[in-house]
Amino acid sequence: METLSKVFEDKYNKNVKDCTNEEIYHGLLSWTKEQLKGRGYQEGKKKIYYISAEFLIGKLLSNNLINLGVYDEVAKYLKENGKELSMIEEIEPEPSLGNGGLGRLAACFLDSIATLGLPGEGIGLNYHLGLFKQEFKDHLQFETPNPWIQPESWLTDAGVSYYVPFKGFMLKSTLYDIDVAGYENKAIKLRLFDIDIADESIVGEGISFDKRDLLHNLTLFLYPDDSDDAGRKLRIYQQYFMVSNAAQMILDEATAKGCNLHDLADYAVIQINDTHPSMVIPELIRLLTERGIEFEEACEIVSHVCAYTNHTILAEALEKWPISYLEEVVPHLMPIIRKLDERIKAKYPQENLAIIDKNDLVHMAHMDIHYGFSINGVASLHTDILKETELHQFYEIYPEKFNNKTNGITFRRWLLHCNHPLTEYITSMIGDGFRKDSFELDKMLGFKGNQDVLANILKIKQDAKKRCAEFIKANTGEEINTHSVYDIQIKRLHEYKRQQLNALYIIDRYLKIKAGEKPQRPVTFIFGAKAAPAYVIAKDIIHLLLCLQELINNDPEVSPYMKVVMVENYNVSAAEKLIPACDISEQISLASKEASGTGNMKFMLNGAVTLGTMDGANVEISQLVGKDNIYIFGESSEQVIEHYEKADYCSRDFYEKDERIRRAVDFIVGNDLLSIGSEEHLRRLHHEIVSKDWFMTLLDFEDYAKVKDQALSDYEDRTAWAEKMLVNIGKAGYFSSDRTIEEYNRDIWHLTPEK
Ligand SMILES: *Cc1c(COP(=O)(O)O)cnc(C)c1O
Repeated sequence: METLSKVFEDKYNKNVKDCTNEEIYHGLLSWTKEQLKGRGYQEGKKKIYYISAEFLIGKLLSNNLINLGVYDEVAKYLKENGKELSMIEEIEPEPSLGNGGLGRLAACFLDSIATLGLPGEGIGLNYHLGLFKQEFKDHLQFETPNPWIQPESWLTDAGVSYYVPFKGFMLKSTLYDIDVAGYENKAIKLRLFDIDIADESIVGEGISFDKRDLLHNLTLFLYPDDSDDAGRKLRIYQQYFMVSNAAQMILDEATAKGCNLHDLADYAVIQINDTHPSMVIPELIRLLTERGIEFEEACEIVSHVCAYTNHTILAEALEKWPISYLEEVVPHLMPIIRKLDERIKAKYPQENLAIIDKNDLVHMAHMDIHYGFSINGVASLHTDILKETELHQFYEIYPEKFNNKTNGITFRRWLLHCNHPLTEYITSMIGDGFRKDSFELDKMLGFKGNQDVLANILKIKQDAKKRCAEFIKANTGEEINTHSVYDIQIKRLHEYKRQQLNALYIIDRYLKIKAGEKPQRPVTFIFGAKAAPAYVIAKDIIHLLLCLQELINNDPEVSPYMKVVMVENYNVSAAEKLIPACDISEQISLASKEASGTGNMKFMLNGAVTLGTMDGANVEISQLVGKDNIYIFGESSEQVIEHYEKADYCSRDFYEKDERIRRAVDFIVGNDLLSIGSEEHLRRLHHEIVSKDWFMTLLDFEDYAKVKDQALSDYEDRTAWAEKMLVNIGKAGYFSSDRTIEEYNRDIWHLTPEK
């Protein structure tokens, strides 16, 4: 720790004892950056370039210290000098360069690529303001900017820049790198492209800004609100800026290593994370032809370099850009995209295989599938649905391209960092091999029935619940009972994730308590979720949850038995505080709609029991832990898909026939809530549920309530519950992103690891 002491002396001319927490944070930041550089970088002839519009990396200090293997040492050194590392962690601003699961996955993958010693890098954009900060006022969500870049940050200017052509002008880029340390291994780089002239002062009220002022806004925000034309065009500008920089850099790097471009596939493999980076395909073809390669061969080369990951089957999320937009932003790509489309149409006349459809929309995913060599889904059920339903027409012509890669999470962040007590206890039981070989967690199962172990696991959970209650108090002002069951649903707010189903259960329980049915143990229903700024119904659901919080927590007859808390500004840091404390993990999406989910995995690893539908990776979780250690409810994906095909689901039928459902749904527009909230929002939501309910909330209500009641009653047998926790932790090894990345490498990338 001598070099660290010296940092404080050189930087502030002070002993660490006399530094403020801010000073210590900045001292640690520069020291850690030096340590990372000292590690050196993973090199190799062939490299994986993981291109993604999002990298939801979260705070980096503690994770870097853990991966560098110096966390304990630094924490001890600070403690000896009267400082707490956990307080210093609080100073770091969170880089929220992603919306949710897809961006967080990209961040976990970088950790695993580095840990496994694979030569690779992430490529994305350096959004100055990242995802908006959420504030609640009058039980409504408001969005404010979330700046995270300070004069000293994890970014390092790489001294690299390119020119990116748009219609009528060029933009010069600047590249910033963030080092990502492998766990006890070398580092890799996250490379974020930016423009020098981005100007935060153009942001007006909330997060509004002039969407046409491209020279100043290009890298300001992640995914600006795309509910209008200017917003949608700005996305195309951002996407092209990202992939043109990426493509130029990849070709330059390969060439510098001796590649003659004909053999590009021996030097580079590109993973296209969802369709946002899809323009990298025509852009690479454009650059290859500029560098003297024939068009046909350029197509062939790119088809051996690019692989595509599909993250969703929600139609609105599969990007289709109008030709007119592309002509306006990147006219030089359109002749290439047209040629790519003509080649496909000549071979396959079916409309549903075309890149450009009859409405002049360019289907980005179709381009990826035709001109990439691999397409993967992100959980076994999701990949099956792609093959059998959503992308069936492609599966018929390219069966060999389709493969599954079930998502994973990095255990360094989602166990070692966020849950030190559990990590230490597991280590005391089975050694520390699980940190690198996650399947060793399986050894925990040898302790089934061991009363001491079960008691210790319960104690660790109880302590986590106490810490979490302090966080909730600070975040929401609400006091919660640490002996209540913590029932947690944290994820983006979306109708398919069905926070509204959970809300209806809460209303039903409230009404029962009001009618004198007092439960044996209190439950705390914890939510955290941001809604897209233009997503009206999602914001109405937030409004409902906040009104319920107000009503229930302030009702002295009910609040001893249940409380509702909605955490403000749910992000990675909040997740790290909530997940270790969870008893029941709510994973209740409508079956077939959640591609994988990764929140479900984080909870399981921290000893929560899942209450969920047979959707996404819940299916694999249930296979691993067995039916005694998970609570499954609701209709299956086959049944749901059939309802959509036959259009035979009618929420009003459920509402009219089932008195219990009707009572709960009508409560939304009853006097209790109307006296707290806004009539406009509550009525609109009520109407949506009764007359549309596209994601079939009412279909599964009865089964959900029944199974949830069962889980809450089983919770009372504390030993039996602890055993479920033990099994969940023990079986979580499969969901390490190290396993996922090993599979990507084995089946798609074929890189040689450097250990
Ligand atoms: C893991 C994570 C998600 C994804 O959660 P799901 O439940 O899988 O949708 C979203 N946001 C944050 C901050 C996360 O850490």
